[in-house]
Amino acid sequence: MNAARLQALGLDDVAAKLDAGVRLSFDDGVRLFACPDLHAIGWLANREREKRHGAKTYYNFNLRLEATNVCTASCLFCSFARLRPGDPEAYTLSLDQVLDKLRQRASQPLTEVHVVNGLHPDLPFSYYLDLLRGLKAIRPGIHLKCFTAVEIAFFADTYGMSDEQVLRELMAAGLDSLPGGGAEIFAERVRRKICHDKADADRYLSIHRTAHRLGLRTNVTMLYGHIETNEERVDHLLRTRALQDETGGLQAFIPLAFHPDHNQMRKLPAPSASETLRVHAVARLMLDNVAHIKAFWIATGVEVAQIALWYGADDLDGTVQEEKIYHMAGSRTPLTMTTAAIRGLIRAAGREPVERDTLYNVIEPAAALVADAAGPLIH
Ligand code: SF4
Repeated sequence: MNAARLQALGLDDVAAKLDAGVRLSFDDGVRLFACPDLHAIGWLANREREKRHGAKTYYNFNLRLEATNVCTASCLFCSFARLRPGDPEAYTLSLDQVLDKLRQRASQPLTEVHVVNGLHPDLPFSYYLDLLRGLKAIRPGIHLKCFTAVEIAFFADTYGMSDEQVLRELMAAGLDSLPGGGAEIFAERVRRKICHDKADADRYLSIHRTAHRLGLRTNVTMLYGHIETNEERVDHLLRTRALQDETGGLQAFIPLAFHPDHNQMRKLPAPSASETLRVHAVARLMLDNVAHIKAFWIATGVEVAQIALWYGADDLDGTVQEEKIYHMAGSRTPLTMTTAAIRGLIRAAGREPVERDTLYNVIEPAAALVADAAGPLIH
């Protein structure tokens, strides 16, 4: 990318700021979203990505569990939730059923269990505490990344506790970090329309702030490609950046593509691949204080996730193994990938695979699982 091209696009000042380590502004972010040349944005984002991580691309060996899809909220974009326990396709796993999913994987060198659920109106708080204790009893060393800030707010309101009390009790039972789900788009205009009956942006951010103060690390997501404007995307990024300035507790930012199948926003098209690449790139450029931008392959599609590794992303999430939220919304990605398959995809994209744990400590993968040849997708 030469200087004349950046100048012709009106991005020479943005490039100069990045060179000088000067933070990009709201207006810069809006211009990056509006720029007609996606590849110029990607080129800038890739420079920032490589400054931080070189060719390294992170993944982990994780297991995703969704213990119930019964949910009192009515988010228009959601294809996963069922309102009442008796509804067709509603399910709530018993604790033993949840724990069995981990027991069945005794031979896998898992480092993380990621749990998110619907907001079930009738389960006791002890269900969640016992779930954490049970998972830790089976695999004491495993990292439990469980419950979005929206779930934490729901627990507090349902069981009559403060957000901090909820977090403290969950931590005492084994909680290690919070995932980033539930952020959607922070702007009030959008939340009123698509997810009016769950925790608002201030509560979401406040719960992450409290979690960081208590010593937990967290992630933040952004659901893009529906009714949000570019200005609202930039606002979302800046609120994320401000939280990180304050606490330093965020590990990764995860753009999540809206999927239109089987939900109340099905008349909208899914975001295009170029939109997905642009969102990852602009996130990398705006979030100068967040270490990792994740291309969650379940949400982007595998091939687009590979390309995103040249558009600002440095992480692909992990093996996942069980995922319902995106697959009920029409995702055609595999349900799981082996670590060998993930490593192969990263290498095929021209990047260097690095296995990490949830806290981004690099770990040596089990030799038997890292043959980079194309292998079966399931362990
Ligand atoms: S997105 Fe989450 S809170 Fe909203 S309806 Fe779906 S499961 Fe419930």
